[in-house]
Amino acid sequence: MATRPEEITAILSKELESYKKDLHMVDVGTVTEVGDGIARVYGLEGCMAGEMVQFPGDIYGIALNLEEENVGIVILGSDQGIKEGDQVKTTGRIMEVPVGEALLGRVVNALGAPIDGKGPVGTDATRHIEIKAPGIIERQPVKEPLDTGIKAIDSMIPIGRGQRELIIGDRQTGKTAIAVDSIINQKGKDVLCIYVAIGQKQSTVAQVVDTLEKNGAMDYTIVVCATAAEPAPLQYISPYSGVTMGEHFMEAGKHVLIIYDDLSKHANAYRQMSLLLRRPPGREAFPGDIFNLHSRLLERAAKLSEAKGSGSLTALPIIETQAGDVTAYIPTNVISITDGQIFLEGDLFYAGIRPAINVGVSVSRVGSAAQTHAMKEVAKRLKLDLARYNELAAFAQFASDLDKTTQAELARGERMVEVLKQDQYEPKSVCDQVLIILAGNNGFLDDVPVNQIHRLDREMIAFMRERHPEITGEIDKTLKLTDEIAGKVNAALTDFKANHFSNEAPAKETATEAA
Ligand code: ATP
Ligand code: MG
Repeated sequence: MATRPEEITAILSKELESYKKDLHMVDVGTVTEVGDGIARVYGLEGCMAGEMVQFPGDIYGIALNLEEENVGIVILGSDQGIKEGDQVKTTGRIMEVPVGEALLGRVVNALGAPIDGKGPVGTDATRHIEIKAPGIIERQPVKEPLDTGIKAIDSMIPIGRGQRELIIGDRQTGKTAIAVDSIINQKGKDVLCIYVAIGQKQSTVAQVVDTLEKNGAMDYTIVVCATAAEPAPLQYISPYSGVTMGEHFMEAGKHVLIIYDDLSKHANAYRQMSLLLRRPPGREAFPGDIFNLHSRLLERAAKLSEAKGSGSLTALPIIETQAGDVTAYIPTNVISITDGQIFLEGDLFYAGIRPAINVGVSVSRVGSAAQTHAMKEVAKRLKLDLARYNELAAFAQFASDLDKTTQAELARGERMVEVLKQDQYEPKSVCDQVLIILAGNNGFLDDVPVNQIHRLDREMIAFMRERHPEITGEIDKTLKLTDEIAGKVNAALTDFKANHFSNEAPAKETATEAA
């Protein structure tokens, strides 16, 4: 009576074989209802969730709702040509997108098809868009920095390769600008970038592409674009397509930076789809599985183990808030599934503090482990000075008579806030950032008028690069700030302040005469 394990295995594998055969069977169904990018199809009993189905005219869809009577399908493209009574075939395939180096420099839609008019993408390699996130054993802790070139971020909210750091703020607070500058800063480094534009205006995306091109950043970047004008399903798919392209590089041992701009619009697209599929709405009318959807996407950011090639995928999702409300459903969700947040504030932006990062509440929970030695050295003091400044600034407004120490602390803080202001498209190297922050830490800026700080920064960096290449070269190379180097920097800065810089701005004509 007792069956031996081998026999069971034999029976099971035989069963499995016929199961596989069944899977390859093509089901044909009939469209019973179509509209708003959604089709209901009768008669697709063998259809799998997430399976690609084919409509007449080579239009594809994804089966999302499997119900007893019918299957709800989102149409990837225009639903104009599809009508009731049309036949629908299952394909036995999960959706795939093209992957590989050939995509670099290209702008593609959510399906990976080129939309930049530069001809077909020269790659045959494809990959399923839904692949499980790497498990815990295949990962290793985040340990290398992903430099954004933005002083306030690299010094105080450092990001590590493989991390998920949220950029969050109201509309028009500089969210995209941070993402774009981070991409530009990867030039000449070993990081490939993917910018996923979700639900944005076509013209806004065109501007980003133009900026990347002008800054020579398209060479190592893929732009995946599903604009607001495109059907919701394409907007919904686009981040998965992007991350799939990124994973291909990561598994080849490369480093990838991916931007999702933005997940608020992604959630809206998914809500629209779900309502049309008549799924029960939950909080703020979003379907209940939106949290799962976003966490599955962000879980795919990783630093792979050495056995897996040590590649990494760093994700910078963006969320747009309404009137700074981070307690709304989607913001709270995404905050809880990222390793840190960069908070941007309209008030700071309008006060001219740009990037408008609130450094007091922004955090990076893993990046400091990956911060370069040089940056870590100067950031400690910077954080203290700024914290003290913020504490005093509020109360100093009411005090008429401040003691010397307080005045000094306020003066220092004001100058450090100025140091952290940074124009767009001007990412700074680690060395340049360290030099100006060190100058501030060591009091070289305290007697410089606030409105001359940026000129000092510019002239000081030029001076250091020209006169002391042994110092800048050493920091560029080792990214360390040893006591010895710090001593040399101090000596050089003393010389610069005493002999090569005047607190008064030179008249326009003599501005070039820096020394
Ligand atoms: P939206 O909500 O529309 O997507 P956003 O939050 O992505 O906006 P951006 O488009 O990046 O914001 O920036 C808004 C405006 O602020 C742009 O005109 C941009 O040029 C300007 N801006 C952004 N960052 C800076 C900066 N560091 N210095 C000066 N101007 C900036
Ligand atoms: Mg934007």
